[in-house]
Amino acid sequence: MKKETQAIHATNLVDETAGAIATPIFLTTTFARDADGSYPKGHMYSRNSNPNRDALEKGLAILEGGAKAFAFASGLAAVSAVFQCMKSGDHVLMPAVGYYASMKLAEEIMGPWGLQMSQVDMEDLDAIKAAIQPNTKLIWVETPANPLLGISDIQAICTLAHSRGIFVGVDNTIATPILQNPISLGADIVMHATTKYIGGHSDVLGGAIIMKEENDWSARIKRVQILMGATQNPLDCYLLARGLKTLPLRMREHSASAFALAQRLENHSAIERVHYPGLASHPQHALAKRQMPHGFSGMISIQIKGDEANARKVASNLKLFQQATSLGGVESLAEHRKSIEGPDSKTPGNLVRLSIGLEHVDDLWEDLDQALSV
Ligand SMILES: *Cc1c(COP(=O)(O)O)cnc(C)c1O
Repeated sequence: MKKETQAIHATNLVDETAGAIATPIFLTTTFARDADGSYPKGHMYSRNSNPNRDALEKGLAILEGGAKAFAFASGLAAVSAVFQCMKSGDHVLMPAVGYYASMKLAEEIMGPWGLQMSQVDMEDLDAIKAAIQPNTKLIWVETPANPLLGISDIQAICTLAHSRGIFVGVDNTIATPILQNPISLGADIVMHATTKYIGGHSDVLGGAIIMKEENDWSARIKRVQILMGATQNPLDCYLLARGLKTLPLRMREHSASAFALAQRLENHSAIERVHYPGLASHPQHALAKRQMPHGFSGMISIQIKGDEANARKVASNLKLFQQATSLGGVESLAEHRKSIEGPDSKTPGNLVRLSIGLEHVDDLWEDLDQALSV
Protein backbone atom coordinates (compact mmCIF):
# COMPACT_ATOMS: atom_id res chain seq x y z
CA MET A 1 0.00 0.00 0.00
CA LYS A 2 1.20 3.52 -0.79
CA LYS A 3 2.04 6.03 1.95
CA GLU A 4 -0.89 8.34 1.12
CA THR A 5 -3.30 5.46 1.80
CA GLN A 6 -1.45 4.16 4.85
CA ALA A 7 -1.37 7.64 6.37
CA ILE A 8 -5.15 7.93 6.22
CA HIS A 9 -6.04 4.46 7.45
CA ALA A 10 -3.20 3.39 9.75
CA THR A 11 -4.43 5.17 12.88
CA ASN A 12 -8.16 4.47 12.62
CA LEU A 13 -9.86 2.67 15.48
CA VAL A 14 -13.14 0.80 15.09
CA ASP A 15 -15.62 2.52 17.39
CA GLU A 16 -17.93 -0.09 18.88
CA THR A 17 -20.16 2.43 20.70
CA ALA A 18 -21.49 4.55 17.85
CA GLY A 19 -19.73 3.41 14.70
CA ALA A 20 -17.90 6.75 14.42
CA ILE A 21 -15.57 7.03 11.41
CA ALA A 22 -13.32 9.55 13.15
CA THR A 23 -11.44 8.06 16.09
CA PRO A 24 -12.97 8.94 19.48
CA ILE A 25 -10.72 10.59 22.07
CA PHE A 26 -10.30 8.43 25.16
CA LEU A 27 -9.85 11.02 27.89
CA THR A 28 -9.63 8.42 30.61
CA THR A 29 -6.82 7.69 32.99
CA THR A 30 -7.99 4.22 33.92
CA PHE A 31 -9.83 1.17 32.51
CA ALA A 32 -12.29 -1.31 34.04
CA ARG A 33 -11.23 -4.79 35.09
CA ASP A 34 -13.38 -7.89 34.63
CA ALA A 35 -14.72 -9.92 37.56
CA ASP A 36 -11.70 -12.21 37.25
CA GLY A 37 -9.35 -9.22 37.50
CA SER A 38 -8.28 -9.25 33.85
CA TYR A 39 -8.30 -6.25 31.50
CA PRO A 40 -10.71 -7.26 28.73
CA LYS A 41 -9.70 -4.49 26.28
CA GLY A 42 -5.97 -4.73 27.00
CA HIS A 43 -5.66 -1.35 28.78
CA MET A 44 -5.08 -0.86 32.50
CA TYR A 45 -3.95 2.73 33.11
CA SER A 46 -3.18 5.51 30.60
CA ARG A 47 0.48 5.93 31.55
CA ASN A 48 0.95 2.31 30.45
CA SER A 49 -1.28 2.49 27.37
CA ASN A 50 -4.29 4.29 25.95
CA PRO A 51 -6.25 3.59 22.73
CA ASN A 52 -5.29 6.96 21.20
CA ARG A 53 -1.61 6.40 21.95
CA ASP A 54 -1.83 2.87 20.54
CA ALA A 55 -3.39 4.23 17.34
CA LEU A 56 -0.72 6.90 16.89
CA GLU A 57 2.12 4.50 17.65
CA LYS A 58 0.74 1.96 15.18
CA GLY A 59 0.52 4.60 12.44
CA LEU A 60 4.05 5.84 13.05
CA ALA A 61 5.47 2.31 13.00
CA ILE A 62 3.72 1.56 9.70
CA LEU A 63 4.86 4.78 8.00
CA GLU A 64 8.48 4.33 9.10
CA GLY A 65 8.53 0.61 8.34
CA GLY A 66 9.44 -0.21 11.95
CA ALA A 67 8.36 -2.95 14.33
CA LYS A 68 7.26 -0.73 17.21
CA ALA A 69 6.74 2.95 18.01
CA PHE A 70 6.56 4.87 21.29
CA ALA A 71 4.97 8.31 21.72
CA PHE A 72 6.32 10.83 24.23
CA ALA A 73 5.28 14.24 25.53
CA SER A 74 7.93 16.07 23.47
CA GLY A 75 10.74 15.44 21.02
CA LEU A 76 13.30 15.82 23.77
CA ALA A 77 11.46 13.33 26.00
CA ALA A 78 11.87 10.87 23.10
CA VAL A 79 15.62 11.60 22.79
CA SER A 80 15.92 11.28 26.58
CA ALA A 81 14.30 7.84 26.45
CA VAL A 82 16.98 6.65 24.03
CA PHE A 83 19.77 8.00 26.25
CA GLN A 84 18.12 6.42 29.29
CA CYS A 85 18.49 3.02 27.64
CA MET A 86 22.25 3.35 28.10
CA LYS A 87 24.22 3.09 31.29
CA SER A 88 26.88 5.06 33.06
CA GLY A 89 30.19 4.78 31.18
CA ASP A 90 28.58 4.23 27.76
CA HIS A 91 29.49 6.64 24.97
CA VAL A 92 27.25 8.29 22.39
CA LEU A 93 28.65 9.93 19.27
CA MET A 94 26.65 12.98 18.21
CA PRO A 95 26.79 15.42 15.30
CA ALA A 96 28.91 18.57 15.52
CA VAL A 97 26.02 20.43 13.88
CA GLY A 98 22.51 19.42 14.89
CA TYR A 99 19.53 20.26 17.05
CA TYR A 100 21.04 22.35 19.81
CA ALA A 101 18.93 21.05 22.71
CA SER A 102 19.69 17.38 21.91
CA MET A 103 23.40 18.08 22.44
CA LYS A 104 22.65 20.08 25.59
CA LEU A 105 20.55 17.21 26.95
CA ALA A 106 23.44 14.77 26.46
CA GLU A 107 25.96 17.18 27.94
CA GLU A 108 24.13 18.90 30.80
CA ILE A 109 21.65 16.28 31.99
CA MET A 110 23.02 12.88 30.95
CA GLY A 111 26.68 13.85 31.45
CA PRO A 112 26.46 14.01 35.27
CA TRP A 113 24.70 10.59 35.16
CA GLY A 114 27.78 9.15 33.47
CA LEU A 115 26.81 9.09 29.80
CA GLN A 116 29.85 10.09 27.76
CA MET A 117 29.25 12.18 24.66
CA SER A 118 31.47 13.51 21.93
CA GLN A 119 30.65 15.33 18.72
CA VAL A 120 31.95 14.68 15.24
CA ASP A 121 31.38 15.94 11.70
CA MET A 122 28.57 13.48 10.80
CA GLU A 123 29.13 14.19 7.09
CA ASP A 124 32.68 12.77 7.20
CA LEU A 125 32.84 8.97 7.41
CA ASP A 126 36.58 8.87 8.19
CA ALA A 127 36.10 11.32 11.04
CA ILE A 128 33.26 9.16 12.42
CA LYS A 129 35.44 6.04 12.19
CA ALA A 130 38.21 7.82 14.09
CA ALA A 131 35.81 9.10 16.77
CA ILE A 132 34.37 5.69 17.66
CA GLN A 133 35.51 4.58 21.11
CA PRO A 134 35.57 1.09 22.66
CA ASN A 135 32.53 2.06 24.79
CA THR A 136 30.53 3.69 21.96
CA LYS A 137 27.01 2.23 22.10
CA LEU A 138 25.14 4.64 19.86
CA ILE A 139 25.75 6.94 16.91
CA TRP A 140 23.12 9.71 16.77
CA VAL A 141 22.53 11.08 13.30
CA GLU A 142 20.42 14.06 12.28
CA THR A 143 19.79 14.48 8.57
CA PRO A 144 18.97 16.99 7.19
CA ALA A 145 20.57 18.60 10.24
CA ASN A 146 19.68 21.81 12.04
CA PRO A 147 20.39 24.53 11.11
CA LEU A 148 22.74 24.20 8.09
CA LEU A 149 20.73 21.35 6.53
CA GLY A 150 23.80 19.18 6.02
CA ILE A 151 23.20 15.58 4.90
CA SER A 152 24.69 12.48 6.56
CA ASP A 153 24.94 9.16 4.75
CA ILE A 154 22.66 6.96 6.86
CA GLN A 155 23.47 3.73 5.00
CA ALA A 156 27.25 4.18 5.17
CA ILE A 157 27.12 5.14 8.87
CA CYS A 158 24.95 2.07 9.64
CA THR A 159 27.37 -0.25 7.82
CA LEU A 160 30.29 1.18 9.78
CA ALA A 161 28.43 1.14 13.12
CA HIS A 162 27.00 -2.35 12.75
CA SER A 163 30.42 -3.81 11.92
CA ARG A 164 31.39 -2.69 15.44
CA GLY A 165 28.14 -3.69 17.19
CA ILE A 166 27.02 -0.06 17.58
CA PHE A 167 23.39 1.07 17.25
CA VAL A 168 22.39 3.96 15.00
CA GLY A 169 19.60 6.40 15.85
CA VAL A 170 18.36 8.96 13.33
CA ASP A 171 16.51 12.18 14.13
CA ASN A 172 14.18 12.18 11.12
CA THR A 173 12.18 15.27 12.15
CA ILE A 174 12.95 17.45 9.12
CA ALA A 175 12.53 14.74 6.48
CA THR A 176 9.49 13.00 8.05
CA PRO A 177 8.62 9.36 7.22
CA ILE A 178 7.25 10.58 3.89
CA LEU A 179 10.57 11.79 2.49
CA GLN A 180 13.10 9.52 4.19
CA ASN A 181 12.94 6.12 5.90
CA PRO A 182 16.11 5.56 7.93
CA ILE A 183 15.08 2.00 8.87
CA SER A 184 15.17 0.97 5.21
CA LEU A 185 18.75 2.31 5.14
CA GLY A 186 19.73 0.25 8.20
CA ALA A 187 18.96 2.51 11.18
CA ASP A 188 17.97 0.79 14.43
CA ILE A 189 16.12 3.73 15.97
CA VAL A 190 14.22 6.61 14.37
CA MET A 191 13.20 9.67 16.35
CA HIS A 192 10.71 12.42 15.51
CA ALA A 193 9.84 15.70 17.11
CA THR A 194 6.19 15.17 16.13
CA THR A 195 5.79 18.79 17.30
CA LYS A 196 6.96 19.75 13.84
CA TYR A 197 5.70 18.33 10.50
CA ILE A 198 3.73 15.38 11.88
CA GLY A 199 1.54 17.63 14.03
CA GLY A 200 1.87 20.19 11.29
CA HIS A 201 -0.26 22.96 12.82
CA SER A 202 1.98 24.31 15.61
CA ASP A 203 -0.49 23.24 18.29
CA VAL A 204 0.94 20.01 19.76
CA LEU A 205 4.25 19.16 21.43
CA GLY A 206 5.25 15.56 20.92
CA GLY A 207 8.00 13.08 20.25
CA ALA A 208 8.26 9.54 18.97
CA ILE A 209 10.71 6.68 18.82
CA ILE A 210 10.31 4.01 16.16
CA MET A 211 12.34 0.80 16.49
CA LYS A 212 13.45 -1.32 13.55
CA GLU A 213 13.04 -4.48 15.60
CA GLU A 214 11.66 -5.60 18.90
CA ASN A 215 14.82 -6.17 20.93
CA ASP A 216 16.44 -5.26 24.27
CA TRP A 217 16.46 -1.56 23.34
CA SER A 218 12.76 -1.51 22.44
CA ALA A 219 11.86 -3.35 25.65
CA ARG A 220 13.91 -0.83 27.61
CA ILE A 221 12.29 2.13 25.83
CA LYS A 222 8.87 0.75 26.74
CA ARG A 223 9.98 0.55 30.40
CA VAL A 224 11.38 4.10 30.25
CA GLN A 225 8.11 5.32 28.73
CA ILE A 226 6.06 3.76 31.52
CA LEU A 227 8.38 4.37 34.47
CA MET A 228 9.78 7.81 33.62
CA GLY A 229 6.24 8.71 32.64
CA ALA A 230 6.80 11.35 29.93
CA THR A 231 3.93 9.86 27.93
CA GLN A 232 1.73 11.66 25.45
CA ASN A 233 -1.82 12.52 26.48
CA PRO A 234 -4.81 11.12 24.54
CA LEU A 235 -5.91 14.47 23.06
CA ASP A 236 -2.44 15.18 21.67
CA CYS A 237 -2.21 11.61 20.34
CA TYR A 238 -5.51 12.21 18.55
CA LEU A 239 -4.24 15.48 17.05
CA LEU A 240 -1.01 13.85 15.87
CA ALA A 241 -2.87 10.88 14.37
CA ARG A 242 -5.04 13.41 12.54
CA GLY A 243 -1.90 15.23 11.38
CA LEU A 244 -0.51 11.99 9.93
CA LYS A 245 -3.46 11.73 7.55
CA THR A 246 -2.45 14.82 5.56
CA LEU A 247 1.32 14.46 6.05
CA PRO A 248 2.07 13.07 2.56
CA LEU A 249 0.15 15.93 0.90
CA ARG A 250 1.64 18.57 3.13
CA MET A 251 5.21 17.35 2.61
CA ARG A 252 4.73 17.45 -1.16
CA GLU A 253 3.65 21.10 -1.00
CA HIS A 254 6.23 22.16 1.64
CA SER A 255 8.96 20.60 -0.54
CA ALA A 256 7.73 22.12 -3.82
CA SER A 257 7.45 25.63 -2.37
CA ALA A 258 10.80 25.42 -0.56
CA PHE A 259 12.54 24.23 -3.72
CA ALA A 260 11.08 27.09 -5.78
CA LEU A 261 11.98 29.67 -3.13
CA ALA A 262 15.50 28.27 -2.62
CA GLN A 263 16.18 28.68 -6.33
CA ARG A 264 14.89 32.27 -6.35
CA LEU A 265 16.79 33.15 -3.15
CA GLU A 266 20.02 31.81 -4.62
CA ASN A 267 19.82 34.51 -7.31
CA HIS A 268 18.93 37.37 -4.94
CA SER A 269 21.60 40.06 -4.65
CA ALA A 270 21.18 40.39 -0.84
CA ILE A 271 21.96 36.71 -0.25
CA GLU A 272 25.42 35.33 0.50
CA ARG A 273 24.47 31.65 0.58
CA VAL A 274 21.39 29.42 0.49
CA HIS A 275 21.43 26.07 2.30
CA TYR A 276 18.86 23.69 0.80
CA PRO A 277 19.57 20.00 0.02
CA GLY A 278 17.55 20.20 -3.21
CA LEU A 279 19.88 22.75 -4.80
CA ALA A 280 22.66 21.51 -7.08
CA SER A 281 24.96 23.87 -5.15
CA HIS A 282 24.41 21.93 -1.88
CA PRO A 283 27.63 20.03 -1.12
CA GLN A 284 25.77 16.71 -0.58
CA HIS A 285 23.10 17.18 -3.22
CA ALA A 286 23.80 13.81 -4.88
CA LEU A 287 23.50 11.98 -1.55
CA ALA A 288 20.36 13.94 -0.67
CA LYS A 289 18.74 12.88 -3.95
CA ARG A 290 19.52 9.23 -3.24
CA GLN A 291 18.43 9.33 0.40
CA MET A 292 15.35 11.57 0.00
CA PRO A 293 14.05 10.64 -3.45
CA HIS A 294 10.59 12.19 -2.95
CA GLY A 295 11.58 15.71 -1.90
CA PHE A 296 13.85 17.77 0.31
CA SER A 297 11.33 19.11 2.85
CA GLY A 298 10.42 22.68 3.69
CA MET A 299 13.42 24.08 5.56
CA ILE A 300 15.78 26.63 4.02
CA SER A 301 18.63 28.43 5.77
CA ILE A 302 19.86 31.66 4.23
CA GLN A 303 23.00 33.62 5.00
CA ILE A 304 22.47 37.30 4.41
CA LYS A 305 25.24 39.51 3.01
CA GLY A 306 26.59 41.63 5.85
CA ASP A 307 26.63 40.92 9.56
CA GLU A 308 24.35 39.61 12.30
CA ALA A 309 22.51 42.94 12.54
CA ASN A 310 21.58 42.70 8.85
CA ALA A 311 20.23 39.18 9.29
CA ARG A 312 18.16 40.21 12.31
CA LYS A 313 16.81 43.14 10.32
CA VAL A 314 15.71 40.87 7.47
CA ALA A 315 13.98 38.55 9.95
CA SER A 316 12.09 41.44 11.52
CA ASN A 317 11.20 43.01 8.14
CA LEU A 318 9.24 39.92 7.13
CA LYS A 319 5.48 40.38 7.38
CA LEU A 320 3.86 37.12 6.27
CA PHE A 321 6.63 34.97 7.74
CA GLN A 322 6.32 35.28 11.49
CA GLN A 323 9.45 35.59 13.54
CA ALA A 324 9.36 32.58 15.85
CA THR A 325 11.24 29.40 16.63
CA SER A 326 10.03 25.93 15.56
CA LEU A 327 9.17 24.55 12.13
CA GLY A 328 6.88 22.28 10.17
CA GLY A 329 3.58 24.14 10.59
CA VAL A 330 1.18 25.33 7.92
CA GLU A 331 2.32 28.92 8.56
CA SER A 332 5.76 30.12 7.47
CA LEU A 333 8.26 31.04 10.18
CA ALA A 334 11.60 32.82 10.16
CA GLU A 335 14.12 32.52 12.91
CA HIS A 336 17.44 34.18 13.67
CA ARG A 337 18.87 30.92 14.93
CA LYS A 338 22.04 32.06 16.71
CA SER A 339 20.18 34.37 19.09
CA ILE A 340 17.74 31.56 19.98
CA GLU A 341 20.48 28.99 20.62
CA GLY A 342 22.40 31.20 23.03
CA PRO A 343 25.91 32.51 23.61
CA ASP A 344 27.85 29.29 22.84
CA SER A 345 25.98 28.68 19.56
CA LYS A 346 28.18 27.85 16.56
CA THR A 347 25.53 28.96 14.06
CA PRO A 348 26.67 31.81 11.76
CA GLY A 349 25.36 35.18 12.93
CA ASN A 350 24.09 36.11 9.47
CA LEU A 351 21.88 33.00 9.19
CA VAL A 352 18.09 33.07 9.09
CA ARG A 353 16.27 29.75 9.13
CA LEU A 354 13.03 29.61 7.18
CA SER A 355 10.24 27.10 7.67
CA ILE A 356 8.25 27.27 4.47
CA GLY A 357 4.55 26.86 5.18
CA LEU A 358 1.61 26.17 2.95
CA GLU A 359 0.77 29.72 1.90
CA HIS A 360 0.94 30.43 -1.85
CA VAL A 361 4.56 30.43 -2.97
CA ASP A 362 4.17 33.76 -4.81
CA ASP A 363 3.01 35.51 -1.62
CA LEU A 364 5.96 34.02 0.26
CA TRP A 365 8.38 35.21 -2.41
CA GLU A 366 6.91 38.71 -2.38
CA ASP A 367 7.46 38.87 1.38
CA LEU A 368 11.04 37.54 1.22
CA ASP A 369 11.92 39.91 -1.63
CA GLN A 370 10.61 43.00 0.19
CA ALA A 371 12.35 42.02 3.46
CA LEU A 372 15.67 41.46 1.67
CA SER A 373 15.40 44.66 -0.36
CA VAL A 374 14.87 47.26 2.38
C1 LIG B 1 12.16 20.45 17.64
C2 LIG B 1 13.19 19.43 17.43
C3 LIG B 1 13.53 18.54 18.46
C4 LIG B 1 12.94 18.63 19.85
O1 LIG B 1 11.55 18.48 19.86
P1 LIG B 1 10.63 19.13 21.04
O2 LIG B 1 9.27 18.63 20.74
O3 LIG B 1 10.79 20.60 20.92
O4 LIG B 1 11.15 18.62 22.34
C5 LIG B 1 14.50 17.58 18.19
N1 LIG B 1 15.07 17.48 16.98
C6 LIG B 1 14.75 18.31 15.96
C7 LIG B 1 15.43 18.15 14.65
C8 LIG B 1 13.81 19.32 16.16
O5 LIG B 1 13.52 20.15 15.16
